[in-house]
Amino acid sequence: MIKPAELQNLREVSARVGSDINLVQGAGGNTSIKRDGVLWVKASGAWLAEAETRDIFVPVDLSGALRALEQGIEKMPVADPAGTLRPSIETSLHALLPHRVVLHVHAVNTIAWASCVGMEDEMAERLQGLAWARVPYRRPGLPLSQVVAEVAAQQRPDVLILGNHGLLVGADDCAGAEALVHEVERRLHLPARPAPVGDRAALDAVCRGTDYRPAEDVCHRLATGPQNLAFVTAGSLYPDHVVFLGPAMRALAQGESVTDVIAVSEAANLPPPVALLVPGAGAIVRADIQPGAEAMLICLALVAERLPADAVISYLPAEEEQALLNWDAEKYRKALSVARA
Ligand SMILES: [Zn+2]
Repeated sequence: MIKPAELQNLREVSARVGSDINLVQGAGGNTSIKRDGVLWVKASGAWLAEAETRDIFVPVDLSGALRALEQGIEKMPVADPAGTLRPSIETSLHALLPHRVVLHVHAVNTIAWASCVGMEDEMAERLQGLAWARVPYRRPGLPLSQVVAEVAAQQRPDVLILGNHGLLVGADDCAGAEALVHEVERRLHLPARPAPVGDRAALDAVCRGTDYRPAEDVCHRLATGPQNLAFVTAGSLYPDHVVFLGPAMRALAQGESVTDVIAVSEAANLPPPVALLVPGAGAIVRADIQPGAEAMLICLALVAERLPADAVISYLPAEEEQALLNWDAEKYRKALSVARA
C-alpha cells in the first residue's frame, strides 16, 4: 500500500497535537487524511504522540467505510488485509466528514463546555463565525457516528462539539485543521479554578503498606479543591474516563483506609479502584497503573478545574457507563495501550 506524501504532514500534526496534554491524553484522540478513495486513520490503541516514531496509521477503504456506516456495521473494512493494526473505533466519524483532513481531540476546554447544560447561548456567542454544530452524547463507535452523520448532512459543519466527549474538526489540509483546533480551544478558554497543592506527607501516610502511590502533582487538585472533588465524585463526564479509570471517582470517606476500600472491592468481586481521592490531600493511584490511565486522571483534573462553580453538569447515565465497560472494542483498545506501555 503506497502511502500518500501528505501522510507525513499528518504525522507531524498528530505528534504535536498528541503531545499536548490539554488536547490529547494517552491513546485518546485520532486523526485522518483522505486520498484516492483511501482513508488513512489512526490505529486503535495507538498514541498520537508517537505518530512520528511509530507506524500508527491504517488504510481503510473510504467507500466501504461509508457503506458500513449506512448499514449499521461497526467493523471497518481495512484496505490492507495483511496489516496487523485495527482502525480506530472512531473511524466512521472520519469517513463521514467530507473534509480531507479530520482531527478528533479530547480538548479540556471543549470537554468542560460539552459536559454542562445551560451554557449553550454563551458557547454560541464564543463560536460565532465558525461553521459549528453541537452533537448530543452517544457511545463512541456506531451510535456517535450515526448522530454526527445526521448533523453533518444538515449543517455541513467544520467544527463539531461532541457532548460529554470532545472536539471534531475538518479542513482541507493539516495546517488548517490544526489551526481550527487551537482556535476553538482559544475561544472556549475557561480559567482554571485555583486549588491548594497536594499534601505529600498525608498521601504517603495513606499509601504506606498498600499497592498505591501518590499520583502526578496535577491530579491532587481533584481532591484539594472542594468544588473539583464534588464535581468528579458525582458521576462520569466522558467515555475515556470510564474506560480507563472506571465510573466517576471514589474518594476515601472520613476514617476510611485504602485497605477498607480494597476489601469493599473484593467483596463485590471487582478489582481495586485504579485511582482514589483523599479529600484535602490529593490523588493516589495503584502502583501498576499504566501511563495511559494516569493521563486520563490528569485530564479529569484539567477539565474539573475549568467547570464553572455554578455549572449544571450532565453526567453520563449509568447504562452508558456499563455499555462502555462491557464493550469489546474498548477492551481491545485498553489492552493494547497497556501492552505497549
Ligand atoms: Zn474521542
